[in-house]
Amino acid sequence: MNFLSKKASGIAPYTAGEQPQDRKYIKLNTNENPYPPSPRVAEVLRALETEGLRRYPRPDAGKLRAAIALEEGVEPENVFCGNGSDEVLALSFPAFFDADGAGACFADLTYSFYEVFAAFFGIPVNIVPLRADFTFDLSAMQAADCQGYYIANPNAPTGVGIERDLLDDFVSSVPDRLVILDEAYMDFFGESCVPLTKKYSNVIVVKTFSKSYALAGIRCGYAVGNAALIDGLFRMKDCFNSYPVDAVAEAVCAAAIADREYYRGMTARVVSERERLRGELLGMGFTVPESRSNFLFAGRTKLSGREIYARLKAAGILVRYWEKPVLCDFVRITVGTPEENDVLLSQLYTILS
Ligand code: PMP
Repeated sequence: MNFLSKKASGIAPYTAGEQPQDRKYIKLNTNENPYPPSPRVAEVLRALETEGLRRYPRPDAGKLRAAIALEEGVEPENVFCGNGSDEVLALSFPAFFDADGAGACFADLTYSFYEVFAAFFGIPVNIVPLRADFTFDLSAMQAADCQGYYIANPNAPTGVGIERDLLDDFVSSVPDRLVILDEAYMDFFGESCVPLTKKYSNVIVVKTFSKSYALAGIRCGYAVGNAALIDGLFRMKDCFNSYPVDAVAEAVCAAAIADREYYRGMTARVVSERERLRGELLGMGFTVPESRSNFLFAGRTKLSGREIYARLKAAGILVRYWEKPVLCDFVRITVGTPEENDVLLSQLYTILS
């Protein structure tokens, strides 16, 4: 007897990057930060009163929302927090799209979770191919029939970014459609569209503590948008999980986001390594689109993405690859520390020669 529902039996779930435990790898496969979180995080954890864990956390993550609002220059009513930005994105599908509506529009090569969420919630999709140089075709997206858009900026897995001015024009050109901007990697670019959330009522920005804040293990993400959109996310959360942000995550993330100086320095180091790494990869003959994120999409050598992945893994280095058209010629490499990147480069040199 199969007790699974048709949905559970039929859906193709998202596959996260592997976390093997068999040996110690140089781990450049899930876009984590190579540097530790702010020292204030350790202080918060040391001072944690475990007695307080007896109680449920704040259902609205109010203290964290206030801290985020301060940093983002908005009001707490403009902020929603969830268990990772994946959860925020998941809740956005039923909050803003109808199963019998015109659907969600996104690029063919983008964060693959959008397609899984749409399938899970039974929302139609309208896929618009990226241009040959991996940039977004915003005019084709504008012409597409849909209820709204998901745009990862910078995009994953390509790393390509869209300037704020272009998105300002785009958002204003589709006033009756919602534009959801996934800014998971935005701190490595510095063109956040949070200011557009005050100018337009049809845009919402989703961010995460997992990448630039080096807190992937904490699981916390947030959305910024006008109060009516934020209320839509709260309505969905309260149908699913009253307390997605636990008390530890709330305290840790509030301390982290306030340590602007620490993170500015760390992000600058990652960006400078990204540029060095890209230069070296181009020199070896890789095609590497200009990246605005903390990873590089590198490929089109004589070897397939899978071959590069397998040989690097044998040498103790993890990168990401996909068995999909176009993507299969590439690997996605997270920017590591200078030392990790040096090991990667020397291995790639050996593999390719
Ligand atoms: N958006 C994009 C584009 C991502 O690459 C990721 C990380 N896999 C996420 C959102 C989700 O990140 P998290 O759930 O850790 O906040």
